[in-house]
Amino acid sequence: MSNLWTPPTETDQLKTLWQLGYFAGHEWDEVRQFLFTEPVVTDAVEQYANFHGLKDEEPAEHMLRPRCGLPDFARSPEEARLSKWRMLDVTTSNRLSGLNPLSAEREQAAWIEAIEAWSRVCGIRLTFIDDMAKANIYANPGSTGPGVLAYSYLPNDSGPDDQMQQVYNRSTNWSYSLLLNVIIHEIGHAIGLDHGPRGSIMQPTAGGDITRPQSWDIQEVVSRYGEAGPQLPPTAEKALTIKNRLSPGRYDLEPNTTDYDYEFNQTIKPGKYRLVGELEMV
Ligand SMILES: [Zn+2]
Repeated sequence: MSNLWTPPTETDQLKTLWQLGYFAGHEWDEVRQFLFTEPVVTDAVEQYANFHGLKDEEPAEHMLRPRCGLPDFARSPEEARLSKWRMLDVTTSNRLSGLNPLSAEREQAAWIEAIEAWSRVCGIRLTFIDDMAKANIYANPGSTGPGVLAYSYLPNDSGPDDQMQQVYNRSTNWSYSLLLNVIIHEIGHAIGLDHGPRGSIMQPTAGGDITRPQSWDIQEVVSRYGEAGPQLPPTAEKALTIKNRLSPGRYDLEPNTTDYDYEFNQTIKPGKYRLVGELEMV
């Protein structure tokens, strides 16, 4: 494959580096005049290689990889540290149906697996609701530009009435593991995380082999939302199974008591639950 590879032009590389935040304080009209031999450019390319953990790969080649639409450097570390939701219960929704070639069921399964992946490793409780107009985090398919898989907005001390949108590229040829990787990544942004080092779920380029938060990611979310509780909150997927075993009504699990879901081999955390169309925590 490498003999078929056409390197991006120097102007394309400058544009990419500028869009990703490597020439902070410079306008594009200024950056496009830079020579590749100037220290401002060689420094930026070196910074790019370091940030992405490149060893043998050429930065110019790496820049062509499918990636997230957010820049590598968009905020100060202090701004990033304060980027979070004020509450632990954060709702999500999506209308991803139709991401080629996945079925709506597979897309929804990836979404549930992704929100659960974050809820499992920190104190946040992400749930799915079938209401795009109310969910704190909601996602649509759309046009994100060539090579851009998805993007998300970032919270800023956001509250229960705030909403963050995400867009997933409808032109991408998605696999389940790629979509799972990208949803976990974008939800990571939507709960406050910036881009992380190579090997983290928050690395800017897609890594279909990374399908759960890694140590850097976990450290970042725990710093915002605390450690995960001793038991997992129910998700919509689990709730639908539980529905088959319970009658409609109101259920209280007092503190220090738990119910055990044998099918999923885990406990349902104490709290109040209401069974209407599906089991939901109240
Ligand atoms: Zn990203």
